[in-house]
Amino acid sequence: MQHIAIIGGGTAGWMTACLLQQRWRERGIAVTLVESAEIGTVGVGEGSTPYLRRFFATLGIAERDWMPACDATYKCGIRFPGWSSVPGYESYFHPFFNEADRELGNQFFTNACLRRRGQAADANPQDFFLAAELARQRRAPIYAGDGPGTDYAYHFDAGKLGAFLRTHAVGLGVRHIVDTVARVEQRENGDMAAVHLKNGARIAAELFVDCSGFKGLLINETLGEPFLPFRDNLFNDRAIAIPTPLVDGEDIPSETVSTALRHGWAWQIPLTSRYGNGYVYSSDFVSDDDAERELRAHLGAAAEGATSRRLRMRVGRVEQHWRQNCVAVGLAQGFIEPLEATALMLIQFSIEDLIAALEGDGFGRGRQADYNRRVNEMFEGVRDYVVAHYQLNTRRDTDYWRANRANRHISARLASLLDVWDRGGDFEAELERHGSALMYLRPSWYALFAGMGRFPADLRAAPQTLTAAQARQRLRQMAQAFRSHRGHLSVG
Ligand SMILES: Cc1cc2nc3c(=O)[nH]c(=O)nc-3n(C[C@H](O)[C@H](O)[C@H](O)COP(=O)(O)OP(=O)(O)OC[C@H]3O[C@@H](n4cnc5c(N)ncnc54)[C@H](O)[C@@H]3O)c2cc1C
Repeated sequence: MQHIAIIGGGTAGWMTACLLQQRWRERGIAVTLVESAEIGTVGVGEGSTPYLRRFFATLGIAERDWMPACDATYKCGIRFPGWSSVPGYESYFHPFFNEADRELGNQFFTNACLRRRGQAADANPQDFFLAAELARQRRAPIYAGDGPGTDYAYHFDAGKLGAFLRTHAVGLGVRHIVDTVARVEQRENGDMAAVHLKNGARIAAELFVDCSGFKGLLINETLGEPFLPFRDNLFNDRAIAIPTPLVDGEDIPSETVSTALRHGWAWQIPLTSRYGNGYVYSSDFVSDDDAERELRAHLGAAAEGATSRRLRMRVGRVEQHWRQNCVAVGLAQGFIEPLEATALMLIQFSIEDLIAALEGDGFGRGRQADYNRRVNEMFEGVRDYVVAHYQLNTRRDTDYWRANRANRHISARLASLLDVWDRGGDFEAELERHGSALMYLRPSWYALFAGMGRFPADLRAAPQTLTAAQARQRLRQMAQAFRSHRGHLSVG
């Protein structure tokens, strides 16, 4: 292989360009990225999972170099208000886990198991994990002095991250062409030979990476690869984004907030320059205008006069991400709605796996089937975790939430996890049975099931356990060792 062409200059295109060029420039493989000036990027996607740290580490880029350039902040986890109406569980926190969590975290698992079996014990994760306390105190997940390992993710301005990665990729040697692909030339065997640009240029390559966004220019429109919609259990297909200003002098939050509204949920993502907000909802249940009214009411005075952007989401995945000599990455390969901010993680994993597959068989295509199986497994694993939020909701206000709760179109795996949890069975063994295919680790599943208050209503007295108040007291002390978020970001 001598030449790789990437079509699309959104976050997916530039992440792919950086990783491939970094990895293979010594081998003399050239990378070209083509992006259209006429077709914009999706312009959202501002929260990450902790795996983005590995992405920057692979590229050798330090936080101090990229974070200020992208208005980035730290993310300790996600808070979920309004998803559950169970007393004591009206809001919960999905934390990123820290080494310091070992003791209180174990206490949380113990309490959740007691509660699951009908014994009265406090089991809301927001009371037991350090990340939740750091977020409450608006601290950065960074120790002021030395401390054990912490895990965290980021928020960032999507446009600025794209620009930063573009500069980095071009610095590494990626050739950047701004033009629109007008036609794709295929060989007799179905492989792609070249893309023809509007200005007349012909870009030939051995491998094409389709990063063209929701339309899937190469994978769907050219190769005709089927798209598998996830509509049967992920109803949301629209989003409205509205930015709001930061409050002067206020500490910057170190969490994403995902608040359940009447027909979906609203995100709030803090950057150093503004808040990114948006409403993800289902067009089967609410009109765009009503959704915008609801979002504006939710945001209050801060959103007065702010312009909105309306987006359609193609939720689902292609059946084969790698077909012929084309690999789809990013929105072109699929998208699970952004509730757990997993899209960039799936992009990163897809490229990392592609590198391993291509190197593993000497740049042939022997590992194509394995690759497709693995990427599909990742998508289905994340899908189960996101679908579980909707299954577990206990809101009663709208048909949207009732339909989500009553929906029986869930995977056998998720059905089995719910069944074992509800029966008070061996949840640990059930998690182990599914292994890495679950994508989310044990603490995340516990945080979600317990955090939504999925427990029997009738409770008996439990043996003495650590209470939420006692755990919080310990967390408050532990959090003192961490830096203030605004202070650490050196803003204001
Ligand atoms: C509402 C919403 C919220 C989201 N929130 C998150 C989040 O919190 N965290 C997260 O990880 N992800 C999130 N995402 C997903 C994230 O935005 C995307 O995964 C990410 O931006 C990558 O997009 P992309 O590069 O695949 O596509 P795009 O940004 O759409 O880029 C497509 C590129 O293809 C180019 N192109 C298209 N056609 C042609 C052509 N004919 N010729 C040349 N170029 C062409 C365009 O010019 C553009 O450069 C969210 C998505 C949505 C919709």
